[in-house]
Amino acid sequence: MLKTIIILYYYFKTKYFMRFADRAALLKWQNSRVTGFLRKYIAKSGYYSRKFRNMDVRNWQSFPTIDKKEMMENFDELNTVGISQKEAFELALNSEKTRNFKPEINNITVGLSSGTSGNRGLFLVCRMERYRWVGIILAKTLPDSIFKKHRIAFFLRANSNLYTGVKSRNISFEFFDLLDSTDHNLKKLDEYKPSIIVSPPSMLKIIAANLNRISINPVKIISVAEVLEELDRRYLEKAFNQTVHQIYQATEGFLACTCRYGNLHINEDLLAVQREYVDKDKFIPVITDFSRTSQPVIRYRLNDILTESHEPCPCGSMCLRIAGIEGRCDDIFYLDSVDGSSSVAVFPDFLSRAVIYASDRIEEYKVIQNTRREILVYVDKTEEFIPVKESLIKLFTVKKCQIPEIIQLKSLEIDRTKKFKRIESRIHDR
Ligand SMILES: [Zn+2]
Repeated sequence: MLKTIIILYYYFKTKYFMRFADRAALLKWQNSRVTGFLRKYIAKSGYYSRKFRNMDVRNWQSFPTIDKKEMMENFDELNTVGISQKEAFELALNSEKTRNFKPEINNITVGLSSGTSGNRGLFLVCRMERYRWVGIILAKTLPDSIFKKHRIAFFLRANSNLYTGVKSRNISFEFFDLLDSTDHNLKKLDEYKPSIIVSPPSMLKIIAANLNRISINPVKIISVAEVLEELDRRYLEKAFNQTVHQIYQATEGFLACTCRYGNLHINEDLLAVQREYVDKDKFIPVITDFSRTSQPVIRYRLNDILTESHEPCPCGSMCLRIAGIEGRCDDIFYLDSVDGSSSVAVFPDFLSRAVIYASDRIEEYKVIQNTRREILVYVDKTEEFIPVKESLIKLFTVKKCQIPEIIQLKSLEIDRTKKFKRIESRIHDR
């Protein structure tokens, strides 16, 4: 009962009461939420108390930042619920192995993000945070009222208590394990007849390609967990004959989602985002989540690059619009400058665009920076490699880089247990 009340409270609050006249009003409200939150929670975390000692919370925007590595290294002292990294990891790994996704310690849900091994993030959420999250996500993503019936098909690498909490009398929720075979999942999807499909774009593409074999009629398609590339968005929108929506949710919080017009907005009603610019309109977000209490996220620097949009949105939201999520900072390509004196950063979205504008016949591709001087390119239409190569050379020339060797890959191996990336850098020393 308490659960339903909390979920409904946040559902209605998010849907109807988070309206701001202008950005200044939003930022003023946000600032008061952040300072109130910091006054209460810094003291509860041993790690943050030391890190921000003698600092005035009114100046929170210039507090030193923290990143994933620092957060994981100081996990035990940073969280406010007394859970050690060791016990949290053991519990999360075990639940992934047994595919039983109800790991809890003293009512705290433990989750593991799907990063590369050694770089996986742990997160803790208490029941209150979980119910709150459910209310908010339903308010932001359901195509109509919470009282209408919905059948949600959720494709994930690992399920979580977080997601199954969405289940209610009107809303049924079915977890589809990405590790199961495609045939099994398609058959299950056909039987389940979802009204909403939430899935990484790589799986959405498989569903789209098999729409003639199954009979489903979803009213909303939501892309999660991987970057939704322009090429895939176009393909999916045509196949499903509707706007493809996005949820940008990470271990660090529920960062952004699309409004009813399909435009991405940062959830500034849930967290504060400062922009660390890396290029014109491109920034690395530094987030302060003023509602995560078990594992406070304060001045946390993400490893993602976002591109902002200055166009106002017809939905009327004052939350910052983003044109796109470009991918991880780790996947920026670094090439030597023409005179060899410096490194030039080439952002993933420039590389994607160079490929898809080279030929409109390409449906599948991948670009890998293998070494400083070697780039590997896969395109499904083999004969389109030459125009793609020319387009990349043009991009590198404009960026004033030394032109690397561009080698054609004849095949592409896809590991379904990992996130699929179109643009990938394999250089780890910069
Ligand atoms: Zn909008």
